[in-house]
Amino acid sequence: MSSSIWYLYEFVRKKWLKRFANAKTEKEAYVPPERYRRIPVSIDQPDNCISCNGCYQSCPSEAIEMQYSEEYGKNLPVFFPGSCIACGNCVETCPTGVLEQGTLRKEAKQYIWTVPKINNYIIDDELCVKCDSCRRICPVNAITYENNVYRIKSNDCVGCNRCATACPVENAIKSYNEYELSEKINRAQNLKFLKKSKKIKYETFNNNSNTENIEGISNKDNTNDDTNDNNIKNILIVEEYAPDSIDEIPRIVSSLCIKCNNCVDVCPGKIDLNELNVLECVKCGLCIEVCPTTAIRTGKVVKKTLNTENCYIINEDKCIGCRICSKACNVENAISISSETNMPYINPDYCVRCGLCHRECPVDAIDFPETSESEKLNKYRSVRGNFQLLIEKDLENYAKNYVIAKDEILEKGKNELNL
Ligand code: SF4
Repeated sequence: MSSSIWYLYEFVRKKWLKRFANAKTEKEAYVPPERYRRIPVSIDQPDNCISCNGCYQSCPSEAIEMQYSEEYGKNLPVFFPGSCIACGNCVETCPTGVLEQGTLRKEAKQYIWTVPKINNYIIDDELCVKCDSCRRICPVNAITYENNVYRIKSNDCVGCNRCATACPVENAIKSYNEYELSEKINRAQNLKFLKKSKKIKYETFNNNSNTENIEGISNKDNTNDDTNDNNIKNILIVEEYAPDSIDEIPRIVSSLCIKCNNCVDVCPGKIDLNELNVLECVKCGLCIEVCPTTAIRTGKVVKKTLNTENCYIINEDKCIGCRICSKACNVENAISISSETNMPYINPDYCVRCGLCHRECPVDAIDFPETSESEKLNKYRSVRGNFQLLIEKDLENYAKNYVIAKDEILEKGKNELNL
């Protein structure tokens, strides 16, 4: 018992002494860091709020909730002072200047970094169908369309997520958050270190199953008894990323690449990020694993719709056959031309429901009923179209046979008559 009291006494005494010795008495010790403001955020003019969710998305401590206000007839942010860490992210993010925290809004104007937000949004150009839905809905005009490519200006985007909600195609607008980004960067740096210290080795095989070496590549038998501790690591990593882990050289999607350099760091071959080209590749697939935005990929992408309930159909009673819809449509096989009527019709298996045809049609001949109706019409059109093709083919064969028979008969007649 007495020893317990002694320990307790010692503990308290040391702590007390430490506090006493390190007490900050200078005036500067009480001055908060430049960006720290223990001033609650306030809404200046709720009328101007566009309910974009930007403040909500930017808050790292989840101290903001969007709640419907009866008085203003829209969603407004509500702040929970107990959770607020006074970082000012929401004030810097707010595109309409509705929020204020001391004089932070004024000061934020001089910052050159991007609008603070947890989620960053990015458009996958291989999946984008250029329907313009995202650009039209963006409350802060952060989406540009140049050279046939849509891009989100990260400095203007407030992370409200509206573009991703409006986009009809699965995964065409992706988001990555800062935590995921740092995880990928850490992973890439770890692999880079292993590569530099030769603890990671890659193998590749040519068609004759001979092992080839490129820098840092071992052609040792991994089960070799000579392996030391380092080689045990090599074996594990080589096994995890077997040379066949991808079967083609990956490509880089320019609209998704954020130039984080992760792929260059881990690649045992060569990647040119300026030209977005994979120059040398052993098909280990490491670049794909460390890319935070799925900008490096192999294989064909498939455009899938997020709305399977309804689908567009072309009303043939109204359609004038101008085919503006099929020219506007950016999805392969979504609009076909009927061989029977020469009118366009929509295939619900490929249509992504972007509505571009509906908007472009000059006579308003495109409706949006339930998908089952569109499926029926598509089946009907394709069956009749195929039937028409069959008849045409038969007629063609018939005509060909007729011409051949006619020639033969005439030739025979000529011979018989010695003409
Ligand atoms: S798959 Fe990626 S990391 Fe691997 S070699 Fe090819 S480009 Fe480099």
